[in-house]
Amino acid sequence: MSDKTIYFDNAATTAVRDEVFNAMTPFLREAYGNPSSLYKIAREAKNAIEKAREQVASAIGASPSEVFFTGSGTEAVNWALLASAFSNMDKGNHIITSNIEHHAVLNSCAYLEKYGFEVTYLPVDEHGIVSASKLERAIKPETILISIMYANNEIGTIQPIAEIGAIARERGIIFHTDAVQAIGHLPVDVKTDNIDLLVLSAHKLHGPKGVGALYIRNGVRTPAFIHGGGQERGRRAGTENVAGIVGLGEAVRLASGEMGVKVEKIRKLRDKIISEILEKVPNSQLNGHPEKRLPGNASISFDFIEGESILLMLDMKGIAASSGSACTSGALNPSHVLMALGLPHEKAHGSVRISVGRYNTEEEADKLIAEIVPIVEKLRAMSPLC
Ligand code: PLP
Repeated sequence: MSDKTIYFDNAATTAVRDEVFNAMTPFLREAYGNPSSLYKIAREAKNAIEKAREQVASAIGASPSEVFFTGSGTEAVNWALLASAFSNMDKGNHIITSNIEHHAVLNSCAYLEKYGFEVTYLPVDEHGIVSASKLERAIKPETILISIMYANNEIGTIQPIAEIGAIARERGIIFHTDAVQAIGHLPVDVKTDNIDLLVLSAHKLHGPKGVGALYIRNGVRTPAFIHGGGQERGRRAGTENVAGIVGLGEAVRLASGEMGVKVEKIRKLRDKIISEILEKVPNSQLNGHPEKRLPGNASISFDFIEGESILLMLDMKGIAASSGSACTSGALNPSHVLMALGLPHEKAHGSVRISVGRYNTEEEADKLIAEIVPIVEKLRAMSPLC
């Protein structure tokens, strides 16, 4: 294994925490029974799934009967959008979303367009905020679904979810929110926010990869997505990833329990990184909203240079960061999120996302700042744009 990386890419994924790992392992080696079977080690596995369901439900203000486990956040988003769209075709074919959603949402919407659905992609302001009043004006008699992310994965902007939820509920339109980046970092309550469908994913909050959950409000029409056996009350077939589900439950429980203290520590470290970089590097700007942003997110644009080059040079120093979402970094197109803010191509190309997590230390932040400042200077000295 490689030397310890200084990891500032916590929005891409996170390390499984010890408590989560310890909660998971018995279900890989001892209580490995199939939860659908009847004997002891199967019942133990089944009970563990139900405990995890309660943990997730309690963290978001839902009932356990409203929580369904999936194989990822992406799968849960596909289920939420495709199942609710196809099963409400009798009511209309119009969907509203924003143009800064994760590709799980954008590509599900593009798929639905091929089947005759009409999708309105709302623009955002220069901070990445969706206007609730613009959204209200976009509603038509045929609108059946609104999908707006809780918080953005690239720039960290938090959307006016309660306002949008109230509008959707009043009009009887299903409201889905992709809360993959929010759960464990922001307090979320599906009842007060009038959320009908909500998606979360374990690996963003120190749980394992490959497990997510979909909250479906009781009474919302969202039929089965994966067909087969009777798991997840017949709505998501396939033998359950018991250890993964246990890890998700434990990760959500721990994150909710310690939210105040941990989030404050993360926010302080993030603010230090932002203020010192902006102060020490001329022609650098913060992307996203100055206050309404995820506590760990620092998305910064550096004029005249490529974000990818900064990342490669940081990597050589043992520091991991990102230039956008993990799925689009490596692509040559500038990020759709940064372009939606109205950033010119050059600035969008010169962006770096630093995402702070629970294990980052002050010393690591100092090292990052000490390395990034000369890296930017060196790259600018070579840049034909300077
Ligand atoms: N939605 C958002 C906002 C995300 O950041 C991600 C992951 O990057 C996903 C959805 C997809 O989740 P998963 O990686 O569990 O498929």
